[in-house]
Amino acid sequence: MADALARAVGEIGRAPVSVMHVCGSHEQAIAKYGLRAVFPRGLNVIMGPGCPVCVTDLPEVDEAVALAGQGVRIFTYGDMLRVPGTVRSLADAQAEGAKIEVVYSIGQAVQLARKSADECVFFASGFETTAVATAAVLLANPPANFSVLSAHKYIPPVMEIVAEMPETRVEGFLAAGHAATITGWGIFERFVERHRIPVVVAGFEPLDIMAGLLTLVELVRDRRAEVVNAYPRCVTREGNRRAQEVLWKVFRPTGGRWRGIAHVPNGNLRLRDEFAAFDARRRFTIQLARLWDYAPPSLAQSCVCGDIMAGIASPTDCPLFGRECVPDNPVGACMVSTEGTCRIWHQYGGHLNLGEER
Ligand code: SF4
Ligand code: SF4
Repeated sequence: MADALARAVGEIGRAPVSVMHVCGSHEQAIAKYGLRAVFPRGLNVIMGPGCPVCVTDLPEVDEAVALAGQGVRIFTYGDMLRVPGTVRSLADAQAEGAKIEVVYSIGQAVQLARKSADECVFFASGFETTAVATAAVLLANPPANFSVLSAHKYIPPVMEIVAEMPETRVEGFLAAGHAATITGWGIFERFVERHRIPVVVAGFEPLDIMAGLLTLVELVRDRRAEVVNAYPRCVTREGNRRAQEVLWKVFRPTGGRWRGIAHVPNGNLRLRDEFAAFDARRRFTIQLARLWDYAPPSLAQSCVCGDIMAGIASPTDCPLFGRECVPDNPVGACMVSTEGTCRIWHQYGGHLNLGEER
């Protein structure tokens, strides 16, 4: 497979050929199995904005921190705890006694809320895959003291933004297989038509990724702007219609910033008006002003997470990588989540292109 990939890249007759994946799980598999060691030198596999924790924007974290400061009980996934806000993280607020608890699912948050007399807010992060679970809970009669602060993001619109960034020069996208089980691969057809860039939907085993990349490079070589489903054992053209119904019944796409990238039209998922009673943004007056008594951490100014997620820098380009910024003491969001590029590179050795080490 690696030889075939090298041949296909060679047949293009120029280097580098740059393709992008937009999924933390793809980067994890590439790093874990050392796949960069067998990628041909002329192939540049860029990590895009594939981690929902990393792209949660500073003001979204600020809202959760402010709500915690107002005495609201906050539930969230573990990765969100240490994601830096403008001046503080939820972990900082927790250390000072705010009621912030890590849960493994929104279902667990609902159970805890049912037993509580407090106002309980679930700080919800994740792409459309995770947003379906949030939507299902809101359709299942949650308790009256429960609401959601949505930081959910929707992947297809950010591909439009990245495709238009002149610095990235992405020639093809490897799309995340499990997100596509929900959306279906058909969702990429209009994107491909508009941008004339091929998309291959791929799974997460090493061979899935190699096969997906080979197909993608062949499409680039043959100048074929098409969507190819290289994960047919899980993904269909239509996707999971029932899950889509649940998702769009509760959420509407709206524009908003993704950390370090840009304002992404339709890139944020927010609750529809019918669910206003469960929308923490409408239920509470979030008092952000009190946060500005704290000074922003100075090291954060050197963080290049945004460039990494846009595919124009690597973790090793950051002067803080592995020094001031490590998983136990993250400076930027990319070092927090297990799907964050800096965290993955740190975990698997810091410089992943073993081919260049030979
Ligand atoms: S939510 Fe799933 S598909 Fe999306 S980035 Fe994470 S692992 Fe990949
Ligand atoms: S190493 Fe840390 S500071 Fe540097 S880009 Fe990554 S997360 Fe940001």
